[in-house]
Amino acid sequence: MSLLYKNDVKPRFFLDRQTSMLYNSDIKLISYLTIKEVNYMPESRKERNMADLGKLFQEAEPYIIEMRRWFHQHPEVSLKEEKTSEKIKEELAAMGIPYEELKPSYGVVATIQGKDSGKVIGARADIDALPVTEDTGLEFSSCNVGEMHACGHDAHIAMLLGVAKVMNQIKDELNGTVKLVFQAAEEIGLGYKEVLDYFHEKGGVDRMIGLHIWSTLPQGEMLLIPGSVFAGGTGFKCKVNGQGGHGARPDLVKDPVKAACDLVLKLAAIPSNFYDVLDHSVVSVGQIHAGTQGNIFPSYAEVDGTTRFYKDGGEQAIKAIMRQIADGVGATYGVDIEVTHRGEIPPVYNTPDYIPRARELAAEVEGLTVSSQTDPICAGDNFGMILREYPGFYGVLGAGKTDEYNYPQHHAKFDIQETEFRKGAEFMGRYIADYLK
Ligand SMILES: [Zn+2]
Ligand SMILES: [Zn+2]
Repeated sequence: MSLLYKNDVKPRFFLDRQTSMLYNSDIKLISYLTIKEVNYMPESRKERNMADLGKLFQEAEPYIIEMRRWFHQHPEVSLKEEKTSEKIKEELAAMGIPYEELKPSYGVVATIQGKDSGKVIGARADIDALPVTEDTGLEFSSCNVGEMHACGHDAHIAMLLGVAKVMNQIKDELNGTVKLVFQAAEEIGLGYKEVLDYFHEKGGVDRMIGLHIWSTLPQGEMLLIPGSVFAGGTGFKCKVNGQGGHGARPDLVKDPVKAACDLVLKLAAIPSNFYDVLDHSVVSVGQIHAGTQGNIFPSYAEVDGTTRFYKDGGEQAIKAIMRQIADGVGATYGVDIEVTHRGEIPPVYNTPDYIPRARELAAEVEGLTVSSQTDPICAGDNFGMILREYPGFYGVLGAGKTDEYNYPQHHAKFDIQETEFRKGAEFMGRYIADYLK
């Protein structure tokens, strides 16, 4: 941008004609309306500001893509996001946006204060990568062997930085406060507690929003559904304690192997025979360990698995059924079965009342339509823990190539289309601006 002062007289305003942004003489952005619009400023200034948000996000698009490439190239797994966090703070500082750290995690919260205290809206991105060795062949592939942004959290960070950039540009138009939450350690079920502690201390937010990018949802579509959009889930372990002995005398032992096998089959019957069939559920066993040799009965066996469900309270129901089954199998084989659960997360629940407006705003984003899909996604995200206390919604942003096979999240060849990042950021920006208008 170059400044040419007519007759060397410094004007009060300067219009950058390429961007239609209006600056004061100190080059501080004061508006993104045109001079003509300012001169004939009518009643509905806010309406036009919303219309111009599209332009601001288009300008921010190269920055968003550049950021995503940087984070993609420098992935850090859960609880190790030190450089990721540093980079986020650097970028916020360069924009002049104040931030706070979410210790002991590497999370960060940026605050954009609008023109009055008003309402508070939070937008969240998770920032961690996965222990996956990248096999995409992208020119900006991971520099860290064995670590990869295979869930798209690199795009989440980049989109939220794009939101930060644009919301900061229009902060004088916002009636309230924006909290931009960069959450660490999502992939291992952590990081949310620091976010909640921060909110408890600072008075919380009135509305919470977030987006997850999704490789198997077509580009140009956003899934915004009322109710549960991601499943709740728990990990579980069943330790079958028996009594070992010689393989020749099963009558003299308490056989944990047979009990464990029976337990696996009975657990698999939970979704169809024991749990509410109108709530989709999954009970899967992925590991079973026992013994050292074929002619020795071990003293114990272990069964490890995972569950998914969509109704709040599903975890308690499934836990109770598991306990009941474990007791039954234990009594049958004369063994004792300990059942422990870990990493419990509720479904990600979208407050139904907030969805119609979110859909309208998504449809305003150039190149974006609301997905006609009504089924939720069978994956988990601990954003549900945050939404449980601070209601809002989680949109799912399609970023898969149309009519082509797209590798799923967490795959070494997982890839997402860069054209979609601006759309996701713009949607969040439009929602925030609309909420704080
Ligand atoms: Zn993931
Ligand atoms: Zn994820």
